[in-house]
Amino acid sequence: MTLTSSTDRAAAAALRHPEKRNRPDNPIQRKPDWIRVKAPTSAAYHETRKLMRELNLVTVCEEAACPNIGECWAKKHATMMIMGDTCTRACAFCNVATGTPKPLDAMEPANVGLSIATLGLEHVVITSVDRDDLSDGGAGHFASVVQAIRAAAPATTIEILTPDFKDKPGAVETIANSPPDVFNHNLETVPRLYPTIRPGARYFISLSLLRDIKRYLPRMFTKSGLMVGLGETREEVGQVMDDLRAADVDFLTIGQYLQPTPKHAPIDRFVTPDEFEGYAALARGKGFLLVSATPLTRSSYHAGDDFTKLRAARDAKLAATAAE
Ligand code: SF4
Repeated sequence: MTLTSSTDRAAAAALRHPEKRNRPDNPIQRKPDWIRVKAPTSAAYHETRKLMRELNLVTVCEEAACPNIGECWAKKHATMMIMGDTCTRACAFCNVATGTPKPLDAMEPANVGLSIATLGLEHVVITSVDRDDLSDGGAGHFASVVQAIRAAAPATTIEILTPDFKDKPGAVETIANSPPDVFNHNLETVPRLYPTIRPGARYFISLSLLRDIKRYLPRMFTKSGLMVGLGETREEVGQVMDDLRAADVDFLTIGQYLQPTPKHAPIDRFVTPDEFEGYAALARGKGFLLVSATPLTRSSYHAGDDFTKLRAARDAKLAATAAE
């Protein structure tokens, strides 16, 4: 056989080395079937997009080039990103622009509340860029947004996915005084990879934030997420699970890392669906109330359905404890 191109040579090399078959530099499986999604076409997708534009709202769905946007927006489920579209950090996995952000938009809390009431959402996820330039890291703005949603859409349950509030004393108390229904902060990866993947963050500060919020509000659900396929080992992921359980985190999400552009951290490998099932089983065994671990899992993917499951899981646990 004559190999005519680098693609052919890489394919042949992958056949000789089966352990490399699901690496992204292997053209045979560069886009595994389990990652592929359809392009968004539905009328509801376009309606959601129009509303976001009209109200001048930024979504992480678009900023992060999320592969689930067609499915989520068809259900009018958009995750809004507050405090602008420019982040003060430069994480190696994230597609959001880095720079000096604009001042906060005082109308944003009301606009977010209005959009949620218009969309008629049962459950909403609000996230933000990092705002290290603000004295409270944006905790007060998160609190204002939660209050505005409670006023405009009182039946909607609220999930916030926040930055780490590193070096921002008082941020936890500010959040706790206007509590959402779910508090989410993603650890993103294992501690060994923080210097390359999350250079502006510190693993134990993120972990402490989750622990401290739970101590303030023991009945509020807490949630965290990991990306896999960045070079982590199964043992390291298991250790992160143990750390999250020690911080009393209720819900763990695990999804495949996808490289947004060639400038971002490369994918080490595509984790197979079977391996995701293995992670889910491992996490359930460690005591999380709920686990979502699939290649396309993202923090906000199916968040409304998962909130219903979280409540049911807690009720079942309390009933079992009472019966003992
Ligand atoms: S998974 Fe989250 S970020 Fe992605 S499209 Fe759905 S709501 Fe948006």
